[in-house]
Amino acid sequence: MSSLPVLVLNSGSSSIKFAMYEASDGQRTKIFEGAVDGIGTDNGKFWIKDDAGNKLVDQTPALPNRSVAFSMVADVLHSGQFPAPKAIGHRTVCGGPTVRDNQLITPKLIDEIESYAALAPLHTPIAVYIMRESLRLFPGIPNFAVLDTYFHRTMPEVVTRMPIPDEYAKMGVRRYGYHGISYESIIYQLQPNIPEKLIVAHLGNGASITAIRNGESLDTSMGLTPTGGIISGSRTGDIDPGVVIFILKKIAETTPDATAAADKLETVFSKKSGLLGVSGLSNDMRDLREAIKDGNDQARLAVDKFTGTIAKWIGSFYAELGGLDMLVFTGGIGENDIASRAEICSGLAALGIIVDPEKNNVRGEAVISADGSKVKVRVIPPAEDLMIVNHVVRLLNNQGE
Ligand code: AMP
Repeated sequence: MSSLPVLVLNSGSSSIKFAMYEASDGQRTKIFEGAVDGIGTDNGKFWIKDDAGNKLVDQTPALPNRSVAFSMVADVLHSGQFPAPKAIGHRTVCGGPTVRDNQLITPKLIDEIESYAALAPLHTPIAVYIMRESLRLFPGIPNFAVLDTYFHRTMPEVVTRMPIPDEYAKMGVRRYGYHGISYESIIYQLQPNIPEKLIVAHLGNGASITAIRNGESLDTSMGLTPTGGIISGSRTGDIDPGVVIFILKKIAETTPDATAAADKLETVFSKKSGLLGVSGLSNDMRDLREAIKDGNDQARLAVDKFTGTIAKWIGSFYAELGGLDMLVFTGGIGENDIASRAEICSGLAALGIIVDPEKNNVRGEAVISADGSKVKVRVIPPAEDLMIVNHVVRLLNNQGE
């Protein structure tokens, strides 16, 4: 294969991240990465840096909307300053019950993904917008959807089935699982020594945890939407259905329209809860650690709730896997928050999980378990962009067959 420039697009509710890789036989070289951040504000950020970290673009534009934001990305890619992409991979959080495989993007596929936007309301609306714009602004270049749910396709029905009537299950209400591209990238980095019984905790602004047997997803904490599972930055995680009913009824007292009330409830559960809701302060772990130093009890409670919930999930996945060979921490908190890793593992010695405080005093890739720990504990940064490039190359090769 001659060298192939592949563009990766990863959009969030207020940002578009992108990266360009040069792919050739077995080789993947990052050429640059960048982001347009702060969409909807007057003081956005637009930057691009090369693989050595040199800033190639560094601007603070007004970013009134996503259209302005994405045209800035397209303009710079069309400027001739960088190699033009020959294929584009779009990180796609959720395609619903019908779009389960990574595949070529067509207008019909975009409509299909959009029809299940309610499953990932923070991600899908901007992602489908970018897909349409990308087809328009890069005509003739194949665009591929790479799904976060794809890795979890191996979960058995006993895990994916929700305990609800068939009527709703048939509408696509089931456990999908998310952060799949991150999990795949951990497996990819562990090759060829993939442990039989593995738990990976992806702890970032959104947080989830997955039980993996022989490299395949067995069970994961997130469910129908990324709001389920463990508590995260501003999301509840799993919650007693009685709480849903109670708060919905409270909201309905002032918002009688059922859809408007449901929208408000969604905002409460996905944007105002989690670490932010409990601390009343911030969804950001760094802020909470600072507040804890200043003696803030609510911040302490929020973080204890976070680390305690994760320890419980590790315990339940240990039981499901019938033991554990390796525990991996990844994501912004998993990679950088030394205290969270120590606190999560502090009560897990009975499972053979023992973290060495000195080895744990690290940010980024490391083995942090004590010499006598039965379970190996590692920190591995995710490589999601690289994984998307790998899928794009595979799909392009399949197209040619
Ligand atoms: P992500 O969504 O993967 O970018 O992760 C974001 C989360 O990682 C936020 O809660 C940050 O506070 C946390 N984080 C990033 N860097 C650090 C750090 N140096 N120490 C503690 N937490 C961090």
